[in-house]
Amino acid sequence: MVIVVKNQANTDSLNSLMSYLNQRNMTVKQTVGENRTILGLIGDTVSLDVDELYAFPVVESVRRIQEPYKLASRTFRSTDTVVDIGDYKIGGGNFQIIAGPCSVESEEQILEVATSVKKSGVNILRGGAYKPRSSPYAFQGLMGKGLELLSEAKVQLKMPIVSEIMSIDDIDEFEDVDVIQVGARNMQNFKLLKELGCINKPILLKRGLANTIEEFLMSAEYIMAGGNEQVILCERGIRTFETATRNTLDISAVPVIKRLSHLPVIIDPSHASGKAELVEPLALASVAVGADGLMIETHNNPQCALCDGAQSLNLEQFDSLVKKVDELRKFVVSHK
Ligand code: PEP
Ligand code: MN
Repeated sequence: MVIVVKNQANTDSLNSLMSYLNQRNMTVKQTVGENRTILGLIGDTVSLDVDELYAFPVVESVRRIQEPYKLASRTFRSTDTVVDIGDYKIGGGNFQIIAGPCSVESEEQILEVATSVKKSGVNILRGGAYKPRSSPYAFQGLMGKGLELLSEAKVQLKMPIVSEIMSIDDIDEFEDVDVIQVGARNMQNFKLLKELGCINKPILLKRGLANTIEEFLMSAEYIMAGGNEQVILCERGIRTFETATRNTLDISAVPVIKRLSHLPVIIDPSHASGKAELVEPLALASVAVGADGLMIETHNNPQCALCDGAQSLNLEQFDSLVKKVDELRKFVVSHK
């Protein structure tokens, strides 16, 4: 980190900044120029808050050299993190599709969808039980019962399961859940992230609706700082001025994050687009751009889905998508 000190700074105010930096265990290399004094900071600068430094009147500008996150950063760990989900791996060249309905609706529904996606060659099942809906009058999920049904599908089909947590108060109910999802709306629920940092289970962290990549990685850092380094990042579209799609898929997030971080990155084209017909082209684009996986909403009867039917693929559409993804992956892997 570099601090530029204001012209004509008096010694007292410079000293108070210096003693603050010393207290924070920073080694400071001071360069006095004709018009400017520059302080080069060496130490654990991720723990420094840039805004706090601006509270010193002597500070003209502050520039980070290193990212504000550490554990999530590629500078800190150069090799790709591989996250184990049951017997399956994601990241570091391992690609997984996570499929299933937006919400678990009934035993028949989840078993039919799980059986079919498994037949299509998919290993990991998703299903929402606690649903973060924009309207309090909309279907809120089957909650505990939904998790029970999802667990039943896990046992019957021998598929690891992914489900979203909305409150840490429900954590005990997630015992059987292999991957806990943090939804877009909770990406900056720091209390939740901290708690999930203390458990030993992979966390699928979705990017917030209006969050930058840096904020996304800072949220991953929250989880990792607690000791849980099994984080999978999921780009699911962000808010833009565009109304033709539910959100705008930030496809560039994949190569950008891969440069900045060692964590696996997957794409959810279902929530990104909000439209079933856009899911396949966006899924293929995700493969081409180097994503480590996909999360696809799949339903046995999208027209009757209690949540997100318009963006859900039916079982045939999903089967056809898996075949195309497999073909494209062969090409992408052989041309790396
Ligand atoms: C979901 O995966 O069902 C979901 C609600 O996603 P998001 O948090 O990305 O909106
Ligand atoms: Mn959904």
